[in-house]
Amino acid sequence: MKEQILVTGGTGYIGSHTVVELQQQGYEVVIVDNLSNSRIEVVDQIAAITGTRPAFVNLDLTDSEGVCTFFDNHPEVKAVIHFAASKAVGESVEKPLMYYHNNLFSLINLLDQMHEHVVQHLVFSSSCTVYGQPEALPVKESAPVQKAMSPYGNTKQIAEEIIGDQAQVSMLHAVLLRYFNPIGAHASAKIGELPLGVPNNLVPYITQTAIGLRAQLKVFGDDYPTPDGTPIRDYIHVSDLAKAHVTALQRMLEKNQKENVEIFNIGTGTGYSVLEVIGSFERVSDQKLNYKIVGRRAGDITAVWADTQLANEVLGWKAEKNLDEMMLSAWRWELALAKEKGNL
Ligand code: UDP
Repeated sequence: MKEQILVTGGTGYIGSHTVVELQQQGYEVVIVDNLSNSRIEVVDQIAAITGTRPAFVNLDLTDSEGVCTFFDNHPEVKAVIHFAASKAVGESVEKPLMYYHNNLFSLINLLDQMHEHVVQHLVFSSSCTVYGQPEALPVKESAPVQKAMSPYGNTKQIAEEIIGDQAQVSMLHAVLLRYFNPIGAHASAKIGELPLGVPNNLVPYITQTAIGLRAQLKVFGDDYPTPDGTPIRDYIHVSDLAKAHVTALQRMLEKNQKENVEIFNIGTGTGYSVLEVIGSFERVSDQKLNYKIVGRRAGDITAVWADTQLANEVLGWKAEKNLDEMMLSAWRWELALAKEKGNL
């Protein structure tokens, strides 16, 4: 058994896939989650995939005493992968204080107690949202951070700065992973994305429409300056993304970092339009999707995809799954959910 790793938000979408990859690499995992946007059954599902049940602690990281007690009770924790955060862009516009409170107090408490308990390694989930609409594509990590379009995006930018400042004055080492658009589900179809209510993101909306939970997908605009008029994103399979966390963790634990805080883009390096994503879904699911083109969604950028050179050559990680594989895994997950609910 390798080192013990704390995964905050470990029952969430990306967190649960990362727990699986960590366990499969021999790490011992402790999950901390307040289940605000996930289900406890995910722990069983992880155990069903890996054969090992991760430890689980129900804790809200904004509770500073609770975080202190957690580290007192878990002296073996060697490193932290921090996912736990609120992530709905629209909700963050409606409730900015809730987002700043949740996402920033959690991080501050965590960093504070990591320092107190001499835990010096952190992998942080950041987002390509920090680039806004980049001037040059593919976007490099050195591209300027632009003013955030939402309080959610701003919490990611502020969090990156907080981590950087803390690393200047302590032994903290961190890797900030800027995710592009994570989609898909584990190959077992035992874990995946569980959007509460109406999904905001494209792929769960597509699969929910196809399964009959939603009447019709709205494609938000086909008048963008792109080849087919719909916006372009860099979609990445969630298991590839999960593996990037394990690679980043190993890099820190093996003391291979060039700087105390390193930043990597985690994407495939290829952009696809909304219509290309729909086309891929129709191909792999062998059915037509009911969609219509409507007006643009406020705040959407035209195009972004990653320059992955640093991730490939310095971090030593590369995405493996292509768009069709991603869409097929998302569809299998939706089918598995429907079967569980008795809808199929
Ligand atoms: N999108 C869409 N209909 C939807 C949800 C998303 O046309 O119901 C489009 C959206 O305009 C964007 C792309 O799909 O161009 C990806 O959107 P998502 O919300 O998944 O990710 P993000 O906006 O964070 O890149």
